Amino acid sequence: MSAHGHAVDEEHGAIREAVARLCAEFPSEYWRKLDREQAYPSAFVQALTEAGYLAALIPEAYGGAGLPLSAAAVILEEIQRQGGNGAACHAQMYVMGTVLRHGSEAQKARYLPEIAAGRLRLQAFGVTEPTSGTDTTALKTFARRDGDHYVVNGQKVWTSRAEHSDLMVLLARTTPREQVQKRTAGLSVFLVDMREARGNGLTIRPIRTMMNHATTEVFFDDLRVPAENLIGEEGQGFRYILSGMNAERILIAAECIGDAKWFIDRATAYANERSVFGRPIGQNQGIQFPIALAYARMRAAELMVQEATRRYEAGQNCGAEANMAKMLAADASNEAANVCIQTHGGFGFAEEYDVERKFRETRLYQVAPISTNLILSYLAEHVLGLPRSF
Ligand SMILES: Cc1cc2nc3c(=O)[nH]c(=O)nc-3n(C[C@H](O)[C@H](O)[C@H](O)COP(=O)(O)OP(=O)(O)OC[C@H]3O[C@@H](n4cnc5c(N)ncnc54)[C@H](O)[C@@H]3O)c2cc1C
Repeated sequence: MSAHGHAVDEEHGAIREAVARLCAEFPSEYWRKLDREQAYPSAFVQALTEAGYLAALIPEAYGGAGLPLSAAAVILEEIQRQGGNGAACHAQMYVMGTVLRHGSEAQKARYLPEIAAGRLRLQAFGVTEPTSGTDTTALKTFARRDGDHYVVNGQKVWTSRAEHSDLMVLLARTTPREQVQKRTAGLSVFLVDMREARGNGLTIRPIRTMMNHATTEVFFDDLRVPAENLIGEEGQGFRYILSGMNAERILIAAECIGDAKWFIDRATAYANERSVFGRPIGQNQGIQFPIALAYARMRAAELMVQEATRRYEAGQNCGAEANMAKMLAADASNEAANVCIQTHGGFGFAEEYDVERKFRETRLYQVAPISTNLILSYLAEHVLGLPRSF
């Protein structure tokens, strides 16, 4: 239990404890070694899958745990709080939401029970492209209908976990942008079976990054995708992708809260035990106050994550709260990471303290899955009614 854990009521306590026990089998040395080798945490992901955590959000009717979003958030938060990295598999929890909400009954019956049982991995989500960036509707990957198939050509970038997934949810254009009235129209979502596709029109190349993230670039060269793998209606894909984003943002925000708690725990412990000038460094307010400030900011962000989750679970519109939760939580974890390094002095940079690794890992969330600027722009335009900027 962390130093601050006692002060705060925590939901889903039993799940939290069970996840913490599972994480204890994968200590820091495990993550450190993988980080050094940029290797995938297969054993950890396997253990999480077997325990059913990655199927938390799949309804019981399809073999999942049928848990609410708040429980999924607790699972991911706890992984981060214990020093692990849920980025290796967090998408398995929410990418299936596209199939669940917009897939046909046949698609759901075919895929969801297999995903829930851990026999099929749906971990890859191909939206971002090198030339369009954040301007999603400018993406160029094109799926042309040809009989009972679509023929896909184009390229994705930052398709995380593609090498460790059987299926990919792919967003592609099916009507050229010039031929649609609204730029959000004419995009479609496909469930691509990468087991058949690799070497038959699909090429995956890993991208080495500043943290261990198993991300890739993916090339489509006349890849044939059966028309039955189209999700929902052709041309409506942008709406389907958007509908999953609130859950994704809330879950990533929960991970950032877990990271922030880990950094605050570590900084507090080190400030108490490290003695310089004959007294613990934590006795100096110059060391205490930044940690206290990071704690206050983490708690404020955590309340926003809870508010977004509450609205989501009540079926209310939670776009603004989910976006703010993601931004505030990513800011809180980034700040806590910085404070943790500073508190550790030189040792903050040593691999064996794990602080530098977690610092690199949590930095990502200022940029992905949506960057801070885009959240501010959403708030400015949609909440405050300021003029549209792009
Ligand atoms: C490790 C990693 C994993 C990822 N995993 C996935 C994945 O699995 N699937 C997937 O589809 N994508 C993934 N992404 C992509 C991620 O979602 C994008 O990197 C992110 O949305 C930003 O897009 P971009 O990199 O193209 O930046 P750009 O759009 O090129 O933007 C660059 C910078 O400019 C800013 N900017 C752009 N336009 C504006 C504007 N109008 N006003 C103000 N600022 C602006 C942005 O905020 C950003 O800071 C991943 C990225 C990384 C790094």
